[in-house]
Amino acid sequence: MITVLSGGTGTPKLLQGIKELVDNDELNIIVNTLENEYFSGVYVSADIDTVLYTMADMINEEFWYGVRDDTFITHERLNEIGTPELLRIGDIDRATKIQKTLLLENHPLDEVVKIQARNMGIKANIMPMSNENSDIKIVTDIGELEFHDFLIKHQSEPEVLDVVFSEVAPAPGIIEVIKNSKAVIIGPSNPITSILPILSLDGVREALKETHVVAVSPIIGNDSVSGPASKFMKALGIPVSSVGVASLYKDFLNNFVIDDKDSDLKEEIENFIDEVTVTNTIMKNLDDKKKLSELILNNI
Ligand code: GDP
Repeated sequence: MITVLSGGTGTPKLLQGIKELVDNDELNIIVNTLENEYFSGVYVSADIDTVLYTMADMINEEFWYGVRDDTFITHERLNEIGTPELLRIGDIDRATKIQKTLLLENHPLDEVVKIQARNMGIKANIMPMSNENSDIKIVTDIGELEFHDFLIKHQSEPEVLDVVFSEVAPAPGIIEVIKNSKAVIIGPSNPITSILPILSLDGVREALKETHVVAVSPIIGNDSVSGPASKFMKALGIPVSSVGVASLYKDFLNNFVIDDKDSDLKEEIENFIDEVTVTNTIMKNLDDKKKLSELILNNI
């Protein structure tokens, strides 16, 4: 059994490779829930839905959000009748979100995700990191912003001074799943708003010390491959580099995978991480994703 810790862009790319190479019945995916919130009357768990759609081969790979070839009839009509939406929710995607909202009336989030995964024909065990809602604030030079206001309304442009989130309890079974895994893979996701929330759950860091952990760096050179990760790292005083990412995982990490372009950092990181693997980590196509997954899986 292996377990992957995931956010909503970088790790799902890696999952497209991993899912082709392992028995999906033996695959757990623990997903960030930090940004879950209600929009337009439906429960939006962006990273969970991205992982669901990735594993069901439905993901929109242009945005790593929503369903490929979706239509936006409801979104456009809402705009026409005077209720514009902050999130551009597609019609098929909205059905997933409506179902989640209805199921949440009678089930905790982890059970809802299990039902939806089963209905989509997914064999892997997708687990939200928590059943509780988090509270996250991005403190910026124009004031304190809600996460989606920062990301969408302000296009991640304000200067970030701090990222603050509340602690929540781990969803049932997460600690056991980590402890019982042959290895845990931390995908190349935003270390601050996707991976740290999972690591800050009670018992997760301790459980990770009991298994073999491999992480892929989301930072190449001095910037993230996409998204605001570098802004968030800078705000928290963490060097924006693979060295900075490794420092966040150093108490449990066994192997850190960094990009060819950062090969000069290998020695420095090996001062505090057992093993550093240097390879191409940019995943443009399925071949890249499978090669990176194969390298990780062969080393665990
Ligand atoms: P979010 O929920 O949209 O923030 O998505 P994630 O947290 O999963 O991922 C965002 C991170 O993925 C960013 O920090 C990117 O640098 C990283 N990322 C995206 N694509 C790639 C890729 O092909 N290779 C690597 N190494 N990192 C990537």
